[in-house]
Amino acid sequence: MAEFHSATDADGVTTITWDVPDRSMNVMSLAGFAELEALVDAALADDSVKGIVLTSGKPDFAGGMDLNAIARMKQEAGDDPARGLFEGVMKIHALLRKIELAGMDPKTRKGGKPIAAALPGTALGIGLEIPLACHRIFAADNAKAKIGLPEIMVGIFPGAGGTTRLVRKMGAMAAAPFLLEGKLSDPKKARMAGLIDEVAEDPAAAAREWVLQAKDADLVKPWDARGYKMPGGAPYTPQGFMTFVGANAMVNGKTKGVYPAAKALLSAVYEGALVDFDTALKIEARWFTHVLMNPSSGAMIRSLFVNKEALEKGASRPAGVPDQRVRKIGILGAGMMGAGIALVAAQAGIEVVLVDQSAEAAEKGRAYAADYMDKGIKRGKATEEKKAEVLGRITATADYDALEGADLVVEAVFEDPDVKAGVTERAEAVLGPDAVFATNTSTLPITGLARASARPAQFIGIHFFSPVEKMMLVEIIKGRETGARAVAKALDFVRQIRKTPIVVNDARFFYANRCIIPYLNEGIRMVGEGVNPALVENAAKLVGLPLGPLQLVDETSIDLGVKIAKATRAAMGDAYPDGAVDEVLFWLAGDGRMGRKAQAGFYAYDDAGKRTGLWPGLAERFPPDADQPGLTEVQHRLLFAQVLEAVRALEDGVLTDIREGDVGAILGWGFAPWSGGPFSWLDMIGAARAVEICEGLAARHGGRFAPPALLREMAESGARFYDRFAPAAAA
Ligand code: NAD
Repeated sequence: MAEFHSATDADGVTTITWDVPDRSMNVMSLAGFAELEALVDAALADDSVKGIVLTSGKPDFAGGMDLNAIARMKQEAGDDPARGLFEGVMKIHALLRKIELAGMDPKTRKGGKPIAAALPGTALGIGLEIPLACHRIFAADNAKAKIGLPEIMVGIFPGAGGTTRLVRKMGAMAAAPFLLEGKLSDPKKARMAGLIDEVAEDPAAAAREWVLQAKDADLVKPWDARGYKMPGGAPYTPQGFMTFVGANAMVNGKTKGVYPAAKALLSAVYEGALVDFDTALKIEARWFTHVLMNPSSGAMIRSLFVNKEALEKGASRPAGVPDQRVRKIGILGAGMMGAGIALVAAQAGIEVVLVDQSAEAAEKGRAYAADYMDKGIKRGKATEEKKAEVLGRITATADYDALEGADLVVEAVFEDPDVKAGVTERAEAVLGPDAVFATNTSTLPITGLARASARPAQFIGIHFFSPVEKMMLVEIIKGRETGARAVAKALDFVRQIRKTPIVVNDARFFYANRCIIPYLNEGIRMVGEGVNPALVENAAKLVGLPLGPLQLVDETSIDLGVKIAKATRAAMGDAYPDGAVDEVLFWLAGDGRMGRKAQAGFYAYDDAGKRTGLWPGLAERFPPDADQPGLTEVQHRLLFAQVLEAVRALEDGVLTDIREGDVGAILGWGFAPWSGGPFSWLDMIGAARAVEICEGLAARHGGRFAPPALLREMAESGARFYDRFAPAAAA
């Protein structure tokens, strides 16, 4: 089926329309490139055609490249994937260069046909790289449209000329936020930044008019004209030199060298800036191939794009259950979590009843939403009307009767089974027979809490992460008796508030906290053993974990750690393995060092609450040994503390889908995104190598590192997690 079609009007303007069948958004496929090329060739060869307008048949222009196609390009290249990729990318360059030169005489740069892009809405990735090769870009005045090059967010970079063209168009400094951070802009801001040329009410009509009057000189890109100089200076000019030195430092500071894409992008920009445009494209293609060949880019695309999207679209939703979208939600407890959940639900257009012990406490929760919207207004991200709309949806009250008619309730009261049982009963007395009751508990097993419910099949865990409005993961937990409709309801709700769900089975700490706690504990344990705390923290950051374990404990609070330790010890009795951790933790708590909120914890803080460095008192109580372990040893301890727990969660049936294990790890606690998640990382290093490392760690540090049976078995058979547990997602 055609993804592009074209028509030529009486004035000789050919309109090429991108309109991929059966999709709400255009994405570029390999077949799409071939079709576009054939239509461009035909229009350029036809003497009756004066020029071309390239537009979309949908409300948006394009969402980007079909990233599955990149995975396929690599697979299909056979024995020499790098060559296959490089040649594939060079073909795309040739097509875009053909559009850019539009049949003009190579010497005089005359006689080309004008080609303009008309963007009705969003234009991302390849959806902007193609327009960048056109002679002029018109966009609709559509405040909802997003324009930009977000490739870096999934571990690659704009590799269809976007990097080379943008830097030559804007200069390296101005292009940096778009290329290195994937910054997106609405059309007006994109025009001000120079990403596009014009904003018009009817971009296709404006583009057509422009095509009809364009002169030869209008078609020549600055970099194809004589005497071109890069805006902001090439690398070996005084100004350019500063840009490149600064960019190198910035990229290394931010990526710690673990993300191949940012570094490769900078190399492509720097080396490309020293040569002519066509050579620069070739250099860009080589670095792009280099990134695509790195297992990290494939793993990031798989987890952060392909599988994340699959989960958002309901990969885990029980089949055959009709739409369970929420109309009215009750939220019990208007504290930190309840207030955040009320805010995101109201933003999604859901009617909210926010209940707390007193009207004042409930009102405080509603005020959180008001504060949040005010901040948005200050930053130009929200309006007074939007604020009124969101607040208008939230009723704050102490009256449980107001829950009448709610089809979902999320409970976020104190982490105490008796308090939770009480509110469950009070709410169910008011709710209709179909309503689903969810708990946001972070530690209490769902099956136990469900005992307070008169209808356990409609009782489920919906576990949010803090801060709710920022954290994209929601962990849905099935209790032993939870039914399919409750799961579908939870998933439909998460979809309404545009977050990413994973669905797991009930067990102590579910999935995310089960993996995070051993990570924090391993860090604390090392301090107790005399490992330099700075080494612990830096080892974590240098392997791409966003926060060191000690900082993370400070952020979530030391007293929470103490509470969890006490509860775990009570549940486990003599088998409790973390006494050495508690020695450090309880000592800090005893000293009143409760973490960031007390402005005292593993770190010291100034009066404004800013971290000033590791607290020197720590070294007095737990002096670092003269003999410190190597960086890799510390990193292995920190990584395997989490990864082995993920494997055990799979082994125990808490996780039933490794895609959820990987996506959940990255979105839930920032597990080294470059790795694609714990299972992707194990596939990268191989189960055999993982077992070897863990046996060493177990011998030196204890049985918690002993490889689980599943990992041993996979090491012996040479199996990979994605081949065995998610064959369809293995690419
Ligand atoms: P919080 O102390 O900030 O808020 C709890 C609120 O519940 C308070 O406003 C309290 O007045 C209210 N409350 C207590 N008893 C009530 C009752 N009988 N009826 C109505 N309201 C009542 O706590 P929080 O941090 O928001 O945590 C709430 C829940 O979410 C807990 O189960 C916690 O484990 C879970 N959770 C917390 C986090 C986190 O990072 N804080 C993350 C995920 C889940």
